[in-house]
Amino acid sequence: MTYEHILVAVDLTEECDPVIKRAMAVAGDSAKLSLVHIVEPMAMAFGGDVPMDLSQLQQQQFDQAKERLGRLTDKYPALKAEQNHLKYGQPRQEIHELAKEQQCDLIVVGSHGRHGLALLLGSTANDVLHGAPCDVLAVKLVKSS
Ligand code: AMP
Repeated sequence: MTYEHILVAVDLTEECDPVIKRAMAVAGDSAKLSLVHIVEPMAMAFGGDVPMDLSQLQQQQFDQAKERLGRLTDKYPALKAEQNHLKYGQPRQEIHELAKEQQCDLIVVGSHGRHGLALLLGSTANDVLHGAPCDVLAVKLVKSS
């Protein structure tokens, strides 16, 4: 079985390179590739109750993400700019919704193989796997020291 439309979730750090490369290898010459990055609401990081206006900071974060996403399209010609998606919200929910909307049959994410406390905090890969509308490929990321 070959995949037809692969959704690659990127956190826009240098770690997204191995994730994109693996997705391209799985896609071969036939599957369509889409990229998605989710900008998470800043208030969420502060527990939802912040006594200041974060809208300007949030806009800067959004603009920066857009620029980085654009740079990835320049770096990997297999990625088409019109198939880049920038969303605002909670990664699991946004990735699942987009995968359904775009009829993707595979989601590719990076995975850190966490231990101890970090495991308790959870990972986006785990989160995305639960309730996913299609197959999920977790690409093992090796810590660079
Ligand atoms: P994490 O568990 O947060 O270390 O992230 C592991 C993987 O989840 C990354 O390599 C990405 O594939 C995906 N990911 C994490 N954060 C985001 C985000 N904000 N938008 C899209 N994908 C993300």
